Amino acid sequence: MTKQQVSGNLRGKRVVVMGLGRFGGGVGVARWLSRQGANVTVTDQEPREKLQSSIAQLADFPITFQLGGHDPDILNSCDLLVVNPAVDKARSEFFQRALNKHIAMTTEINIFMQHCPAPIIGVTGSVGKSTTTAMIHLAITAALKSSRSGRTCWLGGNIGQSLLANLEDIKPDDFVVLELSSFMLEDLPWIRLSPHVAVVTNLAGNHLDRHGTLENYAAAKQNMLRFQHADDWAILNGDDSIVRTWADVTAARVTYYHLENKQDIELAVPGRHNQSNARAALAVLQAVGLAAHTPAASTALAQFPGLPHRLQLVHTSSSGVQWFNDSKATTPEAAITALAALEKKTFICIVGGYDKHADMTEFCRKLAHSAAAVLGIGATGPALIAGTIAAGASREYAMYADTLEGAVTCAKNWITKPNPGSKLFNSVLLSPGCASYDQFTNYEQRGEIFTALARQ
Ligand code: ADP
Repeated sequence: MTKQQVSGNLRGKRVVVMGLGRFGGGVGVARWLSRQGANVTVTDQEPREKLQSSIAQLADFPITFQLGGHDPDILNSCDLLVVNPAVDKARSEFFQRALNKHIAMTTEINIFMQHCPAPIIGVTGSVGKSTTTAMIHLAITAALKSSRSGRTCWLGGNIGQSLLANLEDIKPDDFVVLELSSFMLEDLPWIRLSPHVAVVTNLAGNHLDRHGTLENYAAAKQNMLRFQHADDWAILNGDDSIVRTWADVTAARVTYYHLENKQDIELAVPGRHNQSNARAALAVLQAVGLAAHTPAASTALAQFPGLPHRLQLVHTSSSGVQWFNDSKATTPEAAITALAALEKKTFICIVGGYDKHADMTEFCRKLAHSAAAVLGIGATGPALIAGTIAAGASREYAMYADTLEGAVTCAKNWITKPNPGSKLFNSVLLSPGCASYDQFTNYEQRGEIFTALARQ
């Protein structure tokens, strides 16, 4: 392939941004290119109506839009193609045509990595990326504050906005923490760069519709390590049977984090998985020379409430009952992780939603085993309640409540007016194990409504 890095002057260069999207990467790169004096055309397969907010953010820039599909003719006058990570390159005719024309290619993340003056800490894995990235950012920020050095830790990649707009403000002795998805990592070989500190949380079959095989997916993730140098750091989860075998992929110094024989770190967010994510954050602190400020970082980690909708502690009632919003758990596997995070038989779990016809057998078994009470909502609610009772849950505390509002009301009744001899509940967990589309716009809206009801 003839991918080239962005080097030299972009002034007057004809650049096509393929994929504007709604998450900030496309907007960030289009603005940056325009500021460099490039002649920018943005193309997206979505029509203008669906991209309004992104287009509005580019209103002050002299950018040409070609929306509702990719017109191959624009490749006839294109010096550089900037590809969005969401583009399935193997299946995109437009991309393949650009490839055949030997047009230079890059991505928003690649441009950032080439121009960033500060050391980059990259975080990837199949699950736990956002949480670990946020914990690392929090820990380093607290450590820098405690060191009174005036340095900044920047946060970007998959978790936030494009940092291209901040390039001029990022100083060489700052730090940058980037969450990197497999789709972002796929294109690092074009620039042969990996992060200075690479954290890998775990690997499980994910996005195989796009990557094809587990091997391809793992190879994309390994780009985190592949181009590292001897003075870099690879921070690998020693508890993950696949990731702990990846030391050979990197030339960097390798350190493993694990939970065995380790005392729990004080955290507001529950679960072994969050203990593991916090261990990764402390290992990074060590690698970047800030270990002396671990106490400050630990205090910050202890107060971390979790990212929105991911087992996030959203309310503690006056009687001490904790309310956890895990609305992002849209699959039974994700919800099972949440069930394992809370103390057995102490919590009420709200489950159910849009029916994707996923196999719920194991989820029902785990619910019967772990939750003290279960409330069903939405399309899959009745089957989940029936399945949980069949798996051994008591009928008294397994009920279909239809709506989220009904479920929260019922949970509050159970907490405040327990039947004689009934259980004490320490927490209420929304971890639906299903998508939200039957009753809500998206999982975010479901989580926000739950949070508001919990606090009422
Ligand atoms: P990602 O960014 O990779 O999607 P998140 O940090 O958003 O991951 O977490 C999503 C969900 O994955 C969490 O709600 C939790 O259920 C689960 N999770 C988080 N960290 C881990 C981990 N280290 N191991 C296993 N599961 C995890």
